[in-house]
Amino acid sequence: MLLQPRSPRGCSRGRIGPEGGDVPEGDTVWLVCQRLDDALSGDVLTRSDFRVPQLATTDLVGRRVLQTVPRGKHLLTRIEGGITLHTHLRMDGSWHLYRPGVRWGGGPDHRIRLILSTAGWDAIGYRLHDVELLETAREDDVVGHLGPDVLDPAGFDADEAVRRLRDQPEREIGQALLDQRNLAGIGNLYKAEALFVERLSPWTGVSDVPDLDAVVRTAARLIGRNKGHASQSTTGDSGRDRQHYVFERGGKPCRRCGEPVATAMQGDPPYDRITYWCLRCQPGPHPEPQKRPRSGSGAYDRRAHRSSP
Ligand SMILES: [Zn+2]
Repeated sequence: MLLQPRSPRGCSRGRIGPEGGDVPEGDTVWLVCQRLDDALSGDVLTRSDFRVPQLATTDLVGRRVLQTVPRGKHLLTRIEGGITLHTHLRMDGSWHLYRPGVRWGGGPDHRIRLILSTAGWDAIGYRLHDVELLETAREDDVVGHLGPDVLDPAGFDADEAVRRLRDQPEREIGQALLDQRNLAGIGNLYKAEALFVERLSPWTGVSDVPDLDAVVRTAARLIGRNKGHASQSTTGDSGRDRQHYVFERGGKPCRRCGEPVATAMQGDPPYDRITYWCLRCQPGPHPEPQKRPRSGSGAYDRRAHRSSP
């Protein structure tokens, strides 16, 4: 059973987070926030159990949850009294929602970082990162550095994103698109797919990109198309192995030209990431491709949205 993005009510349980292996894209975080918001907002906390040392004695019982919103890949849960809970999923974090009395199945108890309960739901945060409380008025302390949010409900400021990218003209476009200070919400998947659509090698210098505006708008369009869906298709096809152009398709034929999709690591360890591209369709500078291209499993999996058996 799939957890419906907009209506967790009626579902007894389910994991809402990445499977591990890669940082989730902004649309995944958006979906997680939507589900937490649907489940908790408007209701009073009947239990708060922080299992991180710095907040171990914090008690939010009796306070109403106001809303949960995404900012890039950060989650901000606003709570009565001018309090904001900041969390981040990073590689392996997830939130699980359970009806009261249902057995939790998100992993061993020592992976739990936070429990928030209302009369209707238990929200269990497994392996969450950056768990902290701050004044709602000071949210910029944790998200103020972010560039324009591609999923900003008020509208994505593409011009500002382009301006920030241009500030570092020597950077490789594949790296620059992942830098959340330039634009927030884009991860490895939408980076690879947008660069394929725009026919650019990920190693192209920002100053050599002929139409930076088009790259930014394409990335935003691809991620926006998947907002609110459990699947992440950039091709418009949701069939198995048909959802992406190059991402996680190392060694498989390019959908445009048939050339095997190449893979190589981009960036400096430990922040290097596997990158997928077509040597023929995406000309430009690039390193020697890996001899045995990787076909995937490096990224999170939205099948994780299915509830536990
Ligand atoms: Zn190709």
